[in-house]
Parts: sequence; structure tokens; C-alpha cells
Amino acid sequence: MYDTMKLEICSLIYIIILQCIYFVKRKYNFIESKIYKILLLLTTSLLVSDISAIYFSYKYPENELITSVFIRIYFIMVIIWSLAYLGYVLVSKSKDKNDYDSIIKFILAKKTNLIYVVFSLLTIIGSFFMTYTHDIIPFVLEGEIISYIYIMSTVITMILLLSLVFNKGSMDVEKSFVVLLSILLYFASFILQAIIPSASVISSSLCLVTIFIYFTFENPDLKYIDELDDLRNKAEIANNAKTDFLASVSHEIRTPLNAIIGLSESIPTKDLPKDVAEDIKNINNAGSILLEIVNNILDITKVEEGKMTLNNKPYSLADIISELTSLVNVTISEKPIKFNIETKGNIPTKLIGDEVKVHQVLLNLLSNACKYTKKGTITLNIDSKIIGDKCNLTFKVIDTGIGIKRSDYEKIFQKFERLDQGQKNIEGTGLGLVITKELLNLMGGKITFDSVYQQGTTFTVSFDQEIADRTIITNLQAFEPPKTVLDEHFDGSQYNILLVDDNLLNIKVAEKILKSYNFKITTAKSGLECLNLTKNQKFDLIFLDHMMPEMDGIQTLYNLKSRVVGFTTPVVVLTANAIEGSKEKYLKEGFCDYLSKPISQKELDRILREQLHIE
Ligand code: ADP
Repeated sequence: MYDTMKLEICSLIYIIILQCIYFVKRKYNFIESKIYKILLLLTTSLLVSDISAIYFSYKYPENELITSVFIRIYFIMVIIWSLAYLGYVLVSKSKDKNDYDSIIKFILAKKTNLIYVVFSLLTIIGSFFMTYTHDIIPFVLEGEIISYIYIMSTVITMILLLSLVFNKGSMDVEKSFVVLLSILLYFASFILQAIIPSASVISSSLCLVTIFIYFTFENPDLKYIDELDDLRNKAEIANNAKTDFLASVSHEIRTPLNAIIGLSESIPTKDLPKDVAEDIKNINNAGSILLEIVNNILDITKVEEGKMTLNNKPYSLADIISELTSLVNVTISEKPIKFNIETKGNIPTKLIGDEVKVHQVLLNLLSNACKYTKKGTITLNIDSKIIGDKCNLTFKVIDTGIGIKRSDYEKIFQKFERLDQGQKNIEGTGLGLVITKELLNLMGGKITFDSVYQQGTTFTVSFDQEIADRTIITNLQAFEPPKTVLDEHFDGSQYNILLVDDNLLNIKVAEKILKSYNFKITTAKSGLECLNLTKNQKFDLIFLDHMMPEMDGIQTLYNLKSRVVGFTTPVVVLTANAIEGSKEKYLKEGFCDYLSKPISQKELDRILREQLHIE
């Protein structure tokens, strides 16, 4: 007797161990997994009823009632197991694994599934009345009920195969292949039983399918990996959506800001009443602060996405310091503050690094010192050590300002964190130091600070830069601040400039700024108009907006270049698209330079001088 049951007993032991592991492990509560739990319990009941039927028919051959109860339970279990298996495979193909409604809709969408469900339910009831006969040694079952089980398994296999071929659902190819194997395993067990009726393999084979499913899909660890992949994909999609959103918000905000800053800057205030001139200055200040906020938010997004990169090339630290000196002097002009620069060690004339980021780091620290100091001194201390090919730079920005309370120390580098220490009227976003720290991380540097509340603060940053020119700067302070654009406009009356933008206000702003050079300015409101104008007229420089309806700036540039062989007029993109990498993207498209809106007069001056070859 035990020989006949060997396979079933081994299967039962194995499935009990598997169940223990499965139920103890933490798992996701998907409907799919819930059906699998039912499959596990059904497999156990199936094996128990099979073993019991064999046991009682051997032990008590005269007591037909008890054997027949177990045999009927066994039949019903085989049918319910097959039904649950069908449900499991169909649910695992459904997209939303946790929504009952969508799963029911998904299953009922196929008429064949519905017919099968009704058919199976009727058969469960029918199985109580279907006839069977059985031999005891070996234990062999025959009769209507057995024929039905073979028909049912064939039908179920067909439904599954058809649904696998014609209705892939959310399954990828790999998963479909595993499902296909499990279906074939299921079907093979019935074929084997039909060929060798005495083999008694159905319950053990269905147990094997259950185990197979565990190791391929239902292992909670595998589910976690799937779920993590899924979450990562969703996060990536959400992140891309956030970047697109920020890029478009930044674009939309920059366009009106261009008008606010550009127009308020170009109004001559000399002859205006004092209060009107003051209002214009305030409008301009507010616009600049708003622009700083937009830029900070964009920077923080870039950092978080890991999209901030270094653009290393030779630069002059002396130029940066001179420029910062003039900016600090303008900012503190009305306050009783003295700005000092101290140097220690030898500073090479040319370093290799990301000039813009070095400038941004020092500017953030110096403008904080200006903001949070009412009187006294602000000192920029520069210490340079040359070690081999590298120059180790340490900058200290020392102020005699409001200081930072010790209890606020850890808030300093937190996003949007502004300390509450009597700075209510001082504008800021609480992002500057976070960005500074991230920029330094990127450059392989570090930032620290020390402060005495109400006495002053020292921020220290240090980083290494490669050396491009070892000649030593003798006296940093002796460097003249680079001339700002407003100091000196060259005369551009002999140049023809074309301005292309669909937004009339933007054209007005650019026109006003360019007029101070006395250029001959022509304007166009679309890419098409630009193409028509350039047919008959020769321009020395074209400023082309990117986002325009019908034909955008990039298409217009392509058309300009393809229409005239050897098209030589420099075309500069003038755009409100200012996210990281924009400049590189436009240069790759064939623009010769990039000017972002709101227009920086200094940047505009640089481009004009470069493109028109003005000394
Ligand atoms: P913001 O200056 O835009 O508020 P920051 O990130 O640059 O943002 O600075 C965060 C906070 O750190 C500031 O709000 C201020 O409270 C404090 N802080 C920064 N620099 C100084 C300084 N030099 N002296 C005193 N407090 C400072």
C-alpha cells in the first residue's frame, strides 16, 4: 500500500514545508498571491484526500462509504485546483494586480473564460452524481468522472494556451514562457495518467506545478524584486514628468520676467520724479529676486536628478575675484561695511575647472555675508597651495554679521530652511547653501562654517583645481574689475541685426536693449517671416527664438542653412529654455551661441563682441 502512496506522501511532505516557508515570509498582498495561497491549500487537501482514499480502500475494502467520500473530495479538489490555476494564470496577466473590479472585468472580457467558469461550477455539483469504479490493487479509478477530468484538463489547457497567444496582458515574454511551461506540465500530468491509469500521478503532478509556480513567480523575494523594478520604472516616469514640468514652468516664468527685468532696466530714470524712479528700481529688484528663485529651483532639480555636470576648462581666478569684488561693492554701497581681500600662498594665473560653478559658490557665500551683515567688515581670505599639478584653494568668507545660533547649525544645509533670527526683511529661498554644498561635492570640495551669534560667521570652502598656467598672480587686488556692459557700448550703427520672436513683448525688450548700441534692427514674428526677410536682405547677426508656433527656431535654422549653400550669418538662439544642458543642445543643433531670457546685458555684450568681431 505504501508503495502506491510513496509519491503522494513525498509530495505532501514537500508541500507542507513549502507552505510553512511561504506563510512565514513577508509578502505582497496581491490578488494573484491570494489565489496562490488557495492553490497551496488545495494542493495539500488534494494530496490528503488522495492518500486517504488509497489508505481506506486498502484498509477497509468492505467500507465503501468512507472511501467514496474521499474519492469524491479528491475529484472536487482536482476540479477546484484546475479552476484556481486558471484564475491564477489569468490574474497574473491582468495589469492591475490589486483591483478586484479590473481583474473580474479582465477575466469576463473573454467569453470562453466565462463559459469555463460556469461549466466548472456545474461539474463540481455534477461530480457528486457522476459514476466511477475503482480497483484496489493497484488503485485505479475509471468511469464518467475520470473522463470528465480528462476533458476538463484539455479544455483548461486550450483556454490558457489561447489566452497566452492572443491576449498577452501585462506579461513580458520571459514570464509568458514560464507560464507556458507550467501549462504544459499541468497537461502532461493528465496525459500520463490517461496512458498509465495505475500511475496515480495527478495529485503529485499538480503539486509539482504548484512548486514550479512558487520558484518562478510566487517566491516573495522574486515578487519584491519585480515590485522594486516596477516602482523604479514608475519613479523614473514621474521624475521625467517633473523635469518636463519644471522646464516648461521655468520657460513660462522666464518669458514675462524678461519683460519685467529688461524693460525696467532700460527706462532712463534720470529725469523722472524720485518716487517713480524708486518704484522702477523696486520692480527691477523684485524681478531679479524672482529670477534667482527660478534659477535656484532649477539648480536643485538638476542636482537631485544627478544631471549637474562639470564643464572644466582654463579660467582666470583673478577675473572671478575682480568681478565678485565689484558686485560686493555695489551691494554694500549704502551700508557701513568694508570689504577686504586677503591672500596667502601663490595663485596660478590660469586654473582648469568649472568657472561658472566656482563663481556661483563664491557669489553665494559673499552675497549671504552682504545680506546678513549690517555693519563692520566682510573679508574674502584666499589660501592657495600648489601640490604637484594641482592647486589646493581654500576660501574663507568672514563677516561681522548677525551670526548663527548653535541650535540652528544643522538647519543651515537643509532645503528651504531659513533661520528665524531677525532676518524677516531679508530676501532668500533657503536654497543657496544647499546648492553651494552640492556644487562643492561635484567639484570634490567641501564646505564648513563657524559662527558666533550676533558677532559674525566664517564660511570656509576648499577644493582642488588643475593648473593651466603656473605664472603666479602677484597682487590679486590690483586687478581691474572687468568692464561691465553699461560702462561702454560700442557703436553698432553699421550692423544689421534681425530679431525673431513670436512674442511681441520679448521683441520690444530685446530691441530696447540693442538700441543702446545703435544697431539697425529688423524684427520678424515667425520662422517663415525670418526666411522671407533673409532672402532679400543680408544680416550681420540673427537672434532667433526657439519655441515658436508652426516653424520653431531649430527648424528655421535648418531651413536657413539648407536654402543657402555656405550660409554664414551667425545665428544666436535667444530662449527662455534654461535647464542644464540647454546651451550644449542648441550648439549641437548648429546655433553659434546661446542667450537665455531674461537677457543678461553682460552676456549679450560678450556675444555681440564675439560674433561681430569687435575688439
Ligand atoms: P537664503 O540666504 O536664500 O535664505 P541660504 O541657503 O543661502 O538661503 O542660507 C540659509 C540660511 O542660513 C539663511 O536663511 C540664513 O539664516 C543663514 N545664513 C547663511 N549665511 C549666513 C551668514 N553669513 N550669516 C548669518 N546667517 C547666515
